[in-house]
Amino acid sequence: MFTTIEKVYHDQEGHGSALRYDLHMHSLASDGVLEPRALVERVAEAGIDVMALTDHDTTDGVEEAIKAGSEHGIRVIPGAEISVSWMGGLLHILALDIDIYDPTLKQGLELQRARREERAVAIGARLATAGVEGCLEGARTFSSGPSIGRSHFAADLVERGFAKDKAAAFRKYLRPGKPGYVSCQWASLAETVNWIKSAGGRAVIAHPARYSLTMTKMGWLCEEFKALGGDGIEVVSGTHSAHDNTMAAGIARRFDLLASKGSDFHDPRQTWLSFGSLPPLPENLTPVWHDWGHAAMATGRRAGRLG
Ligand code: AMP
Ligand code: MN
Ligand code: MN
Ligand code: MN
Repeated sequence: MFTTIEKVYHDQEGHGSALRYDLHMHSLASDGVLEPRALVERVAEAGIDVMALTDHDTTDGVEEAIKAGSEHGIRVIPGAEISVSWMGGLLHILALDIDIYDPTLKQGLELQRARREERAVAIGARLATAGVEGCLEGARTFSSGPSIGRSHFAADLVERGFAKDKAAAFRKYLRPGKPGYVSCQWASLAETVNWIKSAGGRAVIAHPARYSLTMTKMGWLCEEFKALGGDGIEVVSGTHSAHDNTMAAGIARRFDLLASKGSDFHDPRQTWLSFGSLPPLPENLTPVWHDWGHAAMATGRRAGRLG
């Protein structure tokens, strides 16, 4: 019987059974609906070997997830999903295999959460002006972690009958141009990569097909990201179509970016592909986990600091 770390080495050497990776998931620490422990239990049931917890602008669930992972034989990679303002739009950058105790990263994420808090107050005020009262209080009842977001507003709008589901709540109230939309100045791409590098992690562009960028702009993004020290791109995403995955694989090859894979799991009721059902990475790509024999060991040592 192999331990997970031995399995990672075995896989890397190419003569073991392939490990199953899912490097993008949310818990109640941000806008997921499961406690980190419950999430890890589901991941174990789905047969995933290595998972990353990547909550929005927080690592608060990571310690609990690592503890649960060690009980279930799952290697939990510490992560986060960082909101970035880039060329007037919003990007999500995944931080993978980070030292969650790194002071630079911690300070950066604290700043991001302060921006989220300020934005939440402004969203509540805007919705009240539009005639929907009590949204901030409602959103807070759904946000049990430190990172409040639009998803918590959507949950409240659904519960109180203002929208039939979360997608409708986003469409009617929370998207740009809608009454509850508040623009926000998030971290820059340079700051974000800097925080991730300071914490010894890998920076990965999340779900690239979701930004509606032209190929020209996508090229600028990849070039800038690489020049700043960015590492990879999420090729297979639960929120991508098969065509999107193929497009992202082409970008990874063209810009020599490492390839990642993740479900973007939030909720067992979500409509997109969940963990366990993601396709494998396309051929001719270097996985972001290609050298994680060592990274997994480092992560294990960090976990040891939890006592
Ligand atoms: P925020 O980071 O607070 O601006 O919220 C973004 C999050 O809202 C995403 O990570 C998704 O979890 C969620 N979200 C965005 N659009 C939708 C949608 N159309 N339906 C459901 N959830 C959405
Ligand atoms: Mn989310
Ligand atoms: Mn995202
Ligand atoms: Mn996500």
